Amino acid sequence: MEGYPYPTWIEVNLSIIENNVRNLIKHAGVPLMAVVKANGYGHGSVEASKAIISGGASYLSVARYCETIPLRNSQITNPILVFGMVMPEEVDEAIANDVTITLYSPEQVGFLAQRAAALGKFVTVHLKVDTGMGRLGVLPHEVLDLVRHVHALGNIHIEGVYSHFATADEPDHPLIRLQLQRFKEVMETLHAEGLQPRWVHMTNSSALLYEKGTEFSMVRAGAAVYGILTRAGVPYPAHTLRHALTWKARLISVKVMPKGWGISYGQTYVTEDEEVIGVVPIGYADGFRRMSGNEVLIEGQRMPVVGRVCMDQCMVRLPKKYPIGTEVVIIGEQGSESIYSEELAARWKTAEHDPTSALSLRIPRIYTRS
Ligand SMILES: *Cc1c(COP(=O)(O)O)cnc(C)c1O
Repeated sequence: MEGYPYPTWIEVNLSIIENNVRNLIKHAGVPLMAVVKANGYGHGSVEASKAIISGGASYLSVARYCETIPLRNSQITNPILVFGMVMPEEVDEAIANDVTITLYSPEQVGFLAQRAAALGKFVTVHLKVDTGMGRLGVLPHEVLDLVRHVHALGNIHIEGVYSHFATADEPDHPLIRLQLQRFKEVMETLHAEGLQPRWVHMTNSSALLYEKGTEFSMVRAGAAVYGILTRAGVPYPAHTLRHALTWKARLISVKVMPKGWGISYGQTYVTEDEEVIGVVPIGYADGFRRMSGNEVLIEGQRMPVVGRVCMDQCMVRLPKKYPIGTEVVIIGEQGSESIYSEELAARWKTAEHDPTSALSLRIPRIYTRS
């Protein structure tokens, strides 16, 4: 059998990731912080990070401290920012491993300063400002007090200041400009206080690609790095980003079912005639949602998934008896047809970031270069 010896696998083209990064940096005109949380949006965080770094990215970022460990264990020495909470139990190790911590609430300040002092070091932080996302971050009117507290205690180095857009995926949403204005005001206040952080960053992929004037001293992007489009139906301004991930499987069973034969749990699909039904060894535990309307590609044609998606398998209705082992594409291109993660996101009523990020770790990743 040609190809890879797995019932299902993911091919990640690292040259595409590297090129996407190059193009994003060129587009931005400032350094890039590439987001590699959630196993690099499902692409494999270590391999993706290496490609991202050879593409010229300066900074990496993840959601949780544990996500930095495989990166540091792979001799990746670039700075890494953790967006979420670094637990008190993790702080010493984070400082020792040169991991940048997000400072998003006044309660963190005393503990961080105390641990850094105990270790005889500085802890590097990026101060997160909530300019309208309503998630993590210090509110604009509380920033100055917090910074004064930090400076009074010492041992905390505010290397960066950042904020996060809530509506950048919606063209012309008024909150985009309002958040930008609030962030600029905060930066002016901080400058007046004598703080000149090296890194000031606010974009996500949507803002970077579609909203000029949001770059500051560094841009932050996840989805775009992997070629995932974040504004539904709006093409990339530069047609230079490509999808890096392809999810494939093989038909593991093909049989002619008699008319009136029910398919899968709940028997929600019953053959209307004698039908050829194939089994594809992927299911909801792999990240293929148990929703109706799914399709896969075989020989460059769309085939409907029929009956409920199981944990590890699903069934497709075929126009003819394909041989066992026939290649199936779930995400990606085949012939002139394609099903990308954006289409799955629309079908599953979720974010464009979701389908690849939710791909199970049990699916082997194969790294290719074009
Ligand atoms: C996930 C995340 C990003 C990346 O967003 P994209 O839309 O994938 O570019 C940026 N910033 C923060 C704080 C995030 O949590």
